[in-house]
Amino acid sequence: RIMRKWNFSAGPAAIPEEVLKETQSELLEWNQSGMSVMEVSHRSPEYIEVASAARQDLIDLLDIPDNYQVLFLQGGATLQFSMIPMNFAADKTADYLLTGSWSKKAIAEASKITKVNTVASSETSNFQNVPDASQWNHTKDAAYFHYVANETIQGNALHQPPETKSPLIADMSSVILSEPIDVSKFSMIYAGAQKNIGPAGLTICIIKDEFLATASNELPGMLQYSKHAESDSMFNTPPTFAWYLAGKVFSWLKTNGGLEAIAKINHTKAKTLYQFIDTSDFYSNPVAVANRSIMNVPFILKDSNLDAQFLHDSKNAGLLNLKGHRSIGGMRASIYNATPQDAIDALIEFMREFEKKHG
Ligand code: PMP
Repeated sequence: RIMRKWNFSAGPAAIPEEVLKETQSELLEWNQSGMSVMEVSHRSPEYIEVASAARQDLIDLLDIPDNYQVLFLQGGATLQFSMIPMNFAADKTADYLLTGSWSKKAIAEASKITKVNTVASSETSNFQNVPDASQWNHTKDAAYFHYVANETIQGNALHQPPETKSPLIADMSSVILSEPIDVSKFSMIYAGAQKNIGPAGLTICIIKDEFLATASNELPGMLQYSKHAESDSMFNTPPTFAWYLAGKVFSWLKTNGGLEAIAKINHTKAKTLYQFIDTSDFYSNPVAVANRSIMNVPFILKDSNLDAQFLHDSKNAGLLNLKGHRSIGGMRASIYNATPQDAIDALIEFMREFEKKHG
């Protein structure tokens, strides 16, 4: 018997059950073709139709203006950490906001390629907040301004796009599609797929035409955003199965009311969980309230000696992957789009019982 449980993994993360079922029903024979979609050429008209429909659904969901390219690439968000400075920094300084482990990695990679100015950092306070914009030290005429909209490990977020004079670039890996955003504020948005989009192996890049026009044409083809744009993300064989499955996730989102609807659900989910944590003396979340993520909720137990017991018991209760990132310990509940309110309610119920027993 199939027994699916509540999965709080930070990524690869839960995928909507409806999507998995539909995928299963098409696995052996897709689209009356006598083949699985995995066995079909990416250049075939049938596959191109699926790929284009997925792109269009993403455009509709995010309301992406016409003057943006929407690319379906590989290499994860991590490759973008290098490709962004390679394509856009040339000999200019690039500005980076340092708010957590992922922005730190982005800075480390960019520093190998160009001059980096860290405009502000919350590292000394363990990334428990995002530095106030009044303290940011911008470079005049920077190549771009990069930030991580949602720090997956620390569970902090910048909920509004910052005001900058230089082109704005956001890593939205762990927050894309969780709520509506104003794409027109950005020169580039990128995200690994394995949280709110679909399976790992796919990376979405949304790039403004006018910014793309400034990209380097000297790099190896695979590293040039413009090559990928010119070839409709088929400069080489794309991750066809991941792209197909992402398309199903986009359809699922559209059918369920799009980003306005999912945002309401997500905000309620996060609110219920934070409220429970805040009213308890046994659990706590250290992130500044204004910067709390709606997707990744880290929390610690009053006594870390109980961590192993908590993880053991929660797993037995059907609540999976609550262990915090190895770099900071404690617990973390990642509550992406495919995790419903029922999962949050079950988690809170478990946490309450656990506290009663051990508190
Ligand atoms: N940025 C953020 C915000 C992430 O959460 C992650 C992965 N968890 C990455 C970058 C790296 O992504 P990938 O493993 O797809 O390269």
